Amino acid sequence: MQEQLTKTLQMIIDGTPEYQFGRVEISGAPIRGLKVGYASKYRKGKFVTGKITIDSRFVEWCNDNNNDAELLDVIRHELAHLIAETFNTKKKHVWHGTAWQDICKAIGGDGSRYYQGKFVKPENVGKEFKPITELYNILPKQPATDWERGTFRQWLERGYHVIKGQKGSLQVWEFKGDAYESADGKEENGWGRAAAVYFTPDQVEPNQPREAK
Ligand SMILES: [Zn+2]
Repeated sequence: MQEQLTKTLQMIIDGTPEYQFGRVEISGAPIRGLKVGYASKYRKGKFVTGKITIDSRFVEWCNDNNNDAELLDVIRHELAHLIAETFNTKKKHVWHGTAWQDICKAIGGDGSRYYQGKFVKPENVGKEFKPITELYNILPKQPATDWERGTFRQWLERGYHVIKGQKGSLQVWEFKGDAYESADGKEENGWGRAAAVYFTPDQVEPNQPREAK
């Protein structure tokens, strides 16, 4: 897998003469949450450097399904993050903003923010990712005090919703490169920083069954 990833990355880099590359590492490892890849260890400067991690199960799936195109696209997506942050002159990250999108498309990627392919991680098979409005229909099965705290979405999945006007407490994680914990499926947790707002059981109330219309 390592050899394949290194080769694929090199192929993309070779096809991207408009940027100067320093050391860009790539490796496969299982990634928690919904992401299939993330970019880390990048630095601002003239040379694009950093590390790309691709979910190892996704790489295997691409091989089994003869789907080089998806693997290429995910690597391009992450490489575009490294490039965008290298040349980012602002303090804030570019994330999936226009600068990233333009680069992603310029290096042959599709510029879409989320992975839209058919691969599903084994731990996510059969799970539904329902829109927030539908989560309000979930009814509680156990008392709210069974949990210490939860994010807005976690409470909804438990059958509770945060009472209007309640302020949560922010928790921020800093992590370096590959050793990181996914923060409750938050989108931007792949590289550098993750944050989640938590609410305690006294800040929530049970969802109500929706009246028939
Ligand atoms: Zn991304």
